[in-house]
Amino acid sequence: MRRDGKFISVGCDVKFQILESGVSIPVCNEEDRRRNEAIAMYYVKHAACPKCGSTSNEQTCAGFAMFGRETDIDGNRVRCECGWKGIVHDLVPISFGGIGA
Ligand SMILES: [Zn+2]
Repeated sequence: MRRDGKFISVGCDVKFQILESGVSIPVCNEEDRRRNEAIAMYYVKHAACPKCGSTSNEQTCAGFAMFGRETDIDGNRVRCECGWKGIVHDLVPISFGGIGA
């Protein structure tokens, strides 16, 4: 199961690279960087199928306002290759090589 280096898209266009050490984010200004970091962490926590753990899933692309706040919820619908359906917020954290879930 290779997760390191996987790219995930956020807000349908920004792409983050998930690394063993965290998340690599395209550098822009400091304010955007902090916000993107918080948003990226949200998507790390909501990235994998709760049923099979796969991160290969199809998502709808409605624009949800993500500001990196704890109350932000991405309600885009997700369909996993295993047949699980839900929303992005139902997804579970990515586990890195046995660390975590
Ligand atoms: Zn699944």
